[in-house]
Amino acid sequence: MSMNRYLLLENIKENEKVDVFVLRNFISDKFSTPKPPKKEYLRCKIIRGHKRAMRQIIKGKTPKATLHKFSTDDFRSLDVWRCLKVVINQNPNLFMDCSNTVSGPKTDGQAKRKNSEGIEKSFNIAFCSNYFSHEEVRESYYYYIQLLFTNFDLKVLCEKFNFKCCNGDPHKINCVEKWVMLKEYLEYHMIKELDLEPFVLDLSVSGLPSYEVVNEFLNQKV
Ligand SMILES: [Zn+2]
Repeated sequence: MSMNRYLLLENIKENEKVDVFVLRNFISDKFSTPKPPKKEYLRCKIIRGHKRAMRQIIKGKTPKATLHKFSTDDFRSLDVWRCLKVVINQNPNLFMDCSNTVSGPKTDGQAKRKNSEGIEKSFNIAFCSNYFSHEEVRESYYYYIQLLFTNFDLKVLCEKFNFKCCNGDPHKINCVEKWVMLKEYLEYHMIKELDLEPFVLDLSVSGLPSYEVVNEFLNQKV
């Protein structure tokens, strides 16, 4: 698998924690004094969204008002949604089980009784390791992350995640870098830190045209 894609986070110092390194670039509105969002908050948001997407696909619905919502004429997002569908529809029983709210952390089905902080804490390493233990779940998660970042609109990303890359309007060029780092973290490092192997598309193969296509191109008479 090609690791060269993870450019922004590959030179991180060994004593530095990747999650801290990434999250300190963002400001959460959740606290009275602005602070970076917490890792548990991010995991909680992402896993709940991922589970919701599974339930929507199983029920044959298209997302309208969630973390991963997109408009029906957004063809790029639709393409990624289709890839996600393929993975989920190949293993309906596994995903039915995995997307069940009862199979969430103990507190997830009883949101009213606990404050959000308590729920976030229960998305701990043990829960996450179990959640991502199946390879198929990690594959679907990979497409889920692609879906969230398909259009890379910074304003939309801030709204989706409920934290900001900066206070200013307009956004600056390094805002893009911040969100790219977050994507890399979610896609790769968040799984790696659970001692699991992240699903990665080998771009050195999939990004190149086939031999036949190249040959056809070379043989064309100009
Ligand atoms: Zn910004």
